Amino acid sequence: MPENDNNNDNNKPVLVTGATGYVAGWIVKKLLEEGYTVHAPVRDPDNADKLKHLNDMAANAPGSIRYFKADLLDPGSYDEAMAGCEIVLHTASPFTTKVDDAQKELIDPALMGTQNVLDAANRCESVTRVVLTSSCAAIYGDNVDVTQAPGGILTEDVWNTTSSVDYNPYYYSKTVAEKKAWDMAEAQNRWTLVVINPSLVIGPGTNPHATSESFDIIKTLVSGEMKMGAPLVGMGTVDVRDVAEAHYQAAFKPQASGRHILSSSNTTLLEISKVLQDKYSQYPLPKRQLPKWLPWMLGPLTGFSRKFISRNFGYRWQADNSKAKRELGLKFRPLKQSMEDMMAQLIESGQVKNRAA
Ligand code: NAP
Repeated sequence: MPENDNNNDNNKPVLVTGATGYVAGWIVKKLLEEGYTVHAPVRDPDNADKLKHLNDMAANAPGSIRYFKADLLDPGSYDEAMAGCEIVLHTASPFTTKVDDAQKELIDPALMGTQNVLDAANRCESVTRVVLTSSCAAIYGDNVDVTQAPGGILTEDVWNTTSSVDYNPYYYSKTVAEKKAWDMAEAQNRWTLVVINPSLVIGPGTNPHATSESFDIIKTLVSGEMKMGAPLVGMGTVDVRDVAEAHYQAAFKPQASGRHILSSSNTTLLEISKVLQDKYSQYPLPKRQLPKWLPWMLGPLTGFSRKFISRNFGYRWQADNSKAKRELGLKFRPLKQSMEDMMAQLIESGQVKNRAA
């Protein structure tokens, strides 16, 4: 992995929102290993179970961690944690596709949360750099959108124009939150904004019981639900440890700017299943591709609307990751390594039944 090439001031604390999350866990680990004091505003600083893995990491690293109470929906709640920080890494945002009220559960925390964190940055004189964890979800909505991108390849110039509160609301939440961040960045000149846009994040968590949607997607793949076959659904994947490295480089490289697609592989559900088959052949992994008409016929029984199926199934996914390699110096881990490490953790933590003979 690339080394940081700058003279960082390890005496200044670094703010990480959403430190309890899957992605942020590895960012916090990296900062602690580099000797930083991490300021971690979390919803419940008294929840010892949720913070245990972070405290264990801090106990074994030169850096340290301090918790503060904050909520994305609570204006002003990030001020205390931000005091004295030059770098703000804003990762907190709900990542789930199972919601009853998309506005309340996804859009409000993503959008108002971004506004609240950046309002705090505007009030906090020490802040010079904000790194926002956006997503490829802010770049495209459905796989069919990839075919509309110039040359059929997603780049940092492309924006998601097809998601809404009622359709793909998680994607919409990431789009409106990132747009808000760019608007707020352009309205001032003390801090610079650097955005990280990962595709589906995979790989082990620093907390083996991570609740991120990433884990649910992989558990569905190995649970037998797709034993008859996987639909052709193209997607990008990236290792969570590479996502953390990208945030670190984006935070400390003065010349870093703009958006960065983070995606190591342009892949499909079936290809993800295939990389697991060497080592985990005893699991009911999908081995063949389902014809597109079958999920469409089954429609809502699959858990997806016909609109979603027709706009996503049967399309490959392609994105250009060259900017992150070039400007953040990233070297992406291969899909097989990420998936094997993630699967090993899911088995060891009992979330996937051990089928070893
Ligand atoms: P995660 O493990 O579910 O983490 C989400 C974090 O957001 C948690 O720390 C959670 O805190 C915090 N959060 C949620 N609602 C909050 C609120 N109202 N106030 C304060 N904090 C709140 O998910 P993740 O996968 O690590 O996602 C982290 C970021 O990466 C998100 O911005 C997500 O959109 C982005 N991302 C993820 C993926 C992926 O595949 N995983 C891909 C692209 C982008 P609690 O612990 O209190 O719940």
